[in-house]
Amino acid sequence: MTSIDGGCLCGCVNYSSHMAPLTTAVCHCTDCQKQSGSAFSINLLLPAEGFVVAGETLASYEKPGGSGHPVRRFFCNACGSALYSEIAAMPGVLAIKAGTLSDAAQVQPGMHLWCASALPWVTPDRDLPCFEQSPTA
Ligand SMILES: [Zn+2]
Ligand SMILES: [Zn+2]
Repeated sequence: MTSIDGGCLCGCVNYSSHMAPLTTAVCHCTDCQKQSGSAFSINLLLPAEGFVVAGETLASYEKPGGSGHPVRRFFCNACGSALYSEIAAMPGVLAIKAGTLSDAAQVQPGMHLWCASALPWVTPDRDLPCFEQSPTA
C-alpha cells in the first residue's frame, strides 16, 4: 500500500495521503470499544505528514488514553463515523480507522494492542505481537 484514501459513511468528510502506512494495529482498549461500538478498532498507523482531510462536518473529541496521554478522536458529526485519531504518545503519526478506507481489504493487521481488555470471545492472532497495553504506555 503506497497511498491511501477514504471517508465517512455519509461522504461529507474525505481524506487521503501519499505516504505509506507504517503498520496496522488492532486496538482492544475500552475507549476504542466505546467509540467504534464494536470489539476493537483497526488503526492504520500513518505519518501525519502529507495527510489531507476535508469536510465541514469534521469534529473531534479529546480525552486521555490508557497511557494517560491525550488522544484526540476525529469523526463526522453528520453520520458519526470514527475516522482517525491523534495520539500524543505517538507524535507525527495518525491512527486511521481502517474501516473507513476506500479499500479496507488491503489492510493486514500487524499487531494487537491493549489485549488485557480484549472481549472474552476475541482471540488475537498469537502469530502477531500482542501487547497487554500499548508499547508506548
Ligand atoms: Zn459523515
Ligand atoms: Zn484503542
